[in-house]
Amino acid sequence: MQDSNLSIGDQVEARCTKCRKNNEHTILLIEEGVPFKVECSVCNRQHKYRTPIPPKKVAVKRVVDPNHAAKKEWAILRPEMNMTKVTDYSMTAAYKVNALLNHTDFGIGLVQRIAGDQKVEVLFEDGRKIMRCR
Ligand SMILES: [Zn+2]
Repeated sequence: MQDSNLSIGDQVEARCTKCRKNNEHTILLIEEGVPFKVECSVCNRQHKYRTPIPPKKVAVKRVVDPNHAAKKEWAILRPEMNMTKVTDYSMTAAYKVNALLNHTDFGIGLVQRIAGDQKVEVLFEDGRKIMRCR
């Protein structure tokens, strides 16, 4: 004799072929400890018990960090940065490539490129940013 906590009238989760999903079902018949016939609580259809559809594996979304490469680069370059050459960032200052600056929000940055008129591309710990300059 099988041990079962289930009895007729209990609610179980089962697959409903009409609803095409897992629903609460009321057990109508039990055979050898397992539900045999059930009634769908959604569509009221009486049918043979079917085990619930296993939940779909939730695909783990790989968060692609667009700054990943820049962060790596920063980590490599960081030990070589001469902290005595760091100057506080100012929009009105002029910067050359390889200049080091300290930004109030982004921290230490390395000027890597002149990015156009009054703009420089700076590598920060969190990634690259275009900064205004003179
Ligand atoms: Zn149903």
